[in-house]
Order: sequence, then C-alpha cells, then structure tokens
Amino acid sequence: MNRLLPLPALLLFASFTATLPAQAPAPPRLIIGIAVDQMRYDFLYRYSEKYGPGGFKRLLREGFSCENTHFNYVPTYTGPGHAAIYTGAPPAINGVIANEWWDPEWGKHRYVTTDTMVKTVGGEGRVGQHSPRVLLSTTITDELRLSNNFKSKVVGICLKDRGSILPAGHIPNACYWFDDKGGNWITSTYYPDSLGLPQWVQDFNARRLADQYTATPWTRLLTQPYDESFAGWDRYDDGKYIGMPGGFPHDLPALKKKFGYTVLRFTPFGNSLTLDFALEAIEKMELGADAVPDFLCLSFSATDYIGHQWGIHAEETQDAYLRLDADLARLFNYLDQKFGKNNVLVFLTSDHGGAETPVHLEDLEVPAGVYAESKAEMPLNEAIQAEFGKKGDFVFEASNQQVWLDHVSLRDAGIESEDAAQVLVKYLRAQPGVYDAWSRRDLMALPDDYPYAPEHRRGIHPRRSGDVIFNLEPAWHADDKTFSQGGTTHGSPYSYDTHVPLVWYGWRVPSGASFAPVSVTDIAPTLAAMLRIMEPNGSTGKVIEAVLR
Ligand SMILES: [Zn+2]
Repeated sequence: MNRLLPLPALLLFASFTATLPAQAPAPPRLIIGIAVDQMRYDFLYRYSEKYGPGGFKRLLREGFSCENTHFNYVPTYTGPGHAAIYTGAPPAINGVIANEWWDPEWGKHRYVTTDTMVKTVGGEGRVGQHSPRVLLSTTITDELRLSNNFKSKVVGICLKDRGSILPAGHIPNACYWFDDKGGNWITSTYYPDSLGLPQWVQDFNARRLADQYTATPWTRLLTQPYDESFAGWDRYDDGKYIGMPGGFPHDLPALKKKFGYTVLRFTPFGNSLTLDFALEAIEKMELGADAVPDFLCLSFSATDYIGHQWGIHAEETQDAYLRLDADLARLFNYLDQKFGKNNVLVFLTSDHGGAETPVHLEDLEVPAGVYAESKAEMPLNEAIQAEFGKKGDFVFEASNQQVWLDHVSLRDAGIESEDAAQVLVKYLRAQPGVYDAWSRRDLMALPDDYPYAPEHRRGIHPRRSGDVIFNLEPAWHADDKTFSQGGTTHGSPYSYDTHVPLVWYGWRVPSGASFAPVSVTDIAPTLAAMLRIMEPNGSTGKVIEAVLR
C-alpha cells in the first residue's frame, strides 16, 4: 500500500474496494413489471380494510414503496405512461406524445401503435395492425435483450394493444393483446409469431375463458357494505351515454349480447383473464426457467375502463380493486411455489392516475368543470379567420391540450404560423377553465419556475406535437362522454393524474418505504442499475438508490 497516501484516502480506497463487487450479483430469474391502468396512489390504502393479506398488503409489507412517485409531463395518458415507465424518458424524447393525435408526418389523425405495414395474427381486420414503430427510444426490455445476445426472453401481455406493445419494446419474443371480436389473445406480423399464433396461445384461446367470465352476473366480492365508496353514485348517470348502467348486480350475459366481449374490459374479470394468460405464458414460454433473467410486462387495463365508466368513488371501482388484490395474491402465491420470492423481481406502478368527477365536485361547490376541447376546432379556426379576414381551414385538430395548425393553408393565405398561434393563445386564455396557453415557441422560452411549463415541455416532441399548447385549471378536464355517467378521466399535470404507486418486491429488495420525490422515468434506470446493464438510450431518469440498498 502506498505510504504517501493520507489516512482518509487509504480508508476511502479500502471501503471502495471492499463494497463494490467485482461482478454483477446473480440476477433474478424473472422480472415482472405490473402496470395497473389508472391506479391512483391512494388506492394502495383507500380499501386497506377490505384487502386480503396476500396482495397489495403483502407488497407493502415485504417490498419497498416509493410513496411519492409522479409523472413529470403532460398529457398523462395510457400510451405515454407505458412508454415512460419502460423508456425512462418523457414524450419529448420517446415520441409517444398521446394515445392519438394529429400526425404531421402522416398528414392525418393517428392512433399511437397503428401500423398499416403489419397484419393481424390470430384475428381478423385491423385489430392486430399494431407495432412499436412509433417509439423512438429503447425500452429497458430492449436493453435487457441487447445486453446478453438476446438470451433473455421478453413478453408483453395486456388487454389493450398499447399497454402490451410499448412496454415489450422493439425486439420482444412475443406480445399479445385482446381481440373483442373473437374474444381471443392475438398479435401482429411485426412479432416473431408472424406466421400464426403458437400452439399454446391457440389452446388457451380454445378454452373460452372469456365466455366463462361473462356467463354469470358480476356481483360484489364481499357481502359487507362498501362504505369506502359513495352510495347513490349512479344519480350522475344522465342517460346520455349508452354505456353500462351503474349498480350491482351487472347482468353480464345480457350485456355481452349487447356489447360483445368488450364488456369483459369493463369488469374486474378482464384483469383475471389477463393474469390467467400471463401465468400460462410463464409456463409455456418457460419464463424464468434458467439463470438468464426474463421479463414479463403485465398490464391490467380493466381498472381504467371501470374508472372511466363509473369514476373513483363508485362501488364498481372498489370491487375492481378488491378483486385485483385477490388476483395479485394469486400471482404472488404462484411465484412463491414456482420460483421462490427471492428469485423474482416485481415492480407495480401505474400509467397515470384519475380525477374527481367534475359534476360531483360542482355539487360540493368545489371549483371544477369541463372544457369542450373536442368541439374547439371550429371556434379556433373562426378566431383566425376573423383576425386576418381570410377564409380557410387553418386548424387540423384540437386534442391533448394542444392545437395543430395547417401550415400550408396558412402560408397560402399569407398568414405567418406564429401570428396564427398568437391569435389562438389569446382566444384560449379567454375561455372558462383555461389556466394558460402558449405558442410552442413561447413555451420553450419560459423559465423553469413558470407554472407547468416544464411538464408541458417534456410532453412536446419537435416533429409530432401541436403548435399551441394550453393548460386547464385544476379539476377542469377536456370533455369526455363518460362524464355524463359519473365517470372520470385523466391527462393533466395535477397530482390526481401524476401521483401513482411504485412498489418494488422480491429479489434483493429491502422492505421499507420512502417519501423522497421519484419520477416514473426513474423506474427504467433503476432496473438497469439492479441488472448492471445500460439504461434505455433516451433515459432521463435517476437511479432510486434506496431500492438498491
Ligand atoms: Zn391508462
């Protein structure tokens, strides 16, 4: 040892070499990323009294909970949420700016994962015409495959196509979502199953579990009163929206005749079917069978459909979480038996939260409201016409708290795009419920402490996003047809939409909790640190050190 080094330096050197292992710790055999669609942070605790010991409570008791985890961008929707969890990047980088938007590259409105270059496998029509090509950066699942010569297997499973496709990344082994028409799990020719569904998926579909789950009425899981939820919630159903009426029991055989297999999405049994299929995938694809870690991306969508339909105070929503709790217990028991808890790494989070229903807050005289974004295109266009005294269609679309302008029409009319944008900013700022509006140029120049400017900037992709961006006031929402039934939505930079659970469990995860601020984009780089692999190539997140202790 060098005698010239001062004592503190020697100590530092000694502790450094003593604590840093020369090689990576043996990895978990299986990683399961669970996204519970529309799960607010408080749902970890709201129904605690009625949760069993083996689901959410076991996660919190034996795992590590990052209690102060938020999304850091707008809009907080399903596509961007799943992309952010797995890329460690906001929409500004990964390119997933919404569920659907006006696409300047395509010259038309697009759905996030639509890909007309691929075909449906296992079903008919366009239901399978999806791929991850929209995603511009790698996922942690891509990085895992790239890290070990593709020895790790990666599978995505979710009722929603986007909830399966975006997490599984660009190079998974398989990716499945649910076809409402046939009641089957399907995929697309983008994936390795391009020639047809593997036998095990065909066999699973042939069991017709989707029929079994809709053969009897949906009743409450527990007989005791659901006094965590509001009674008489169905008074908010004004009958204008033809959906499933509120109130137990739900006659699923009759509803299935009316809505087909879609009805399954609006029941907790959509989640149960998702888990049934995921457990079959673990068995038949031999996930976690050897020392090389495999990754299952598992997303539960029914909670989102149910929240949109009935809102965050409905008994239906409570029942969905109680039944999901039972399904999680089923999953953890299975993992115990199959692998042992310490050989599996699980994290549970959500793709966004969910708001108080505006009409309910208004009843309580709490400020809230609905902005008619879906009908804004015409008045926005008229504002430009009036200002410049020119006829024309200058506005492509208003959605996602953005406005896309037709730059060609504006140029032909001799109007500068930025001048048109400023007219819309002035118009929008005068609308009830609009907190602020900016041209994209002005938004980019605002200081970081300007309210919600950083969140909106992280949602703006240079080639894809709109020309005008606006922010609604707290508890104000873009119009959503399910509001007329007491349902909820999400999409804002406010805590009800950004604050989600993040609980880690299993392999080398200490038990405990932290209230230190964490971003959802920290999940992927934390997984990379645990596995000693590279973080996704667009990642902006930080490693959550408390989980690696
Ligand atoms: Zn969602």
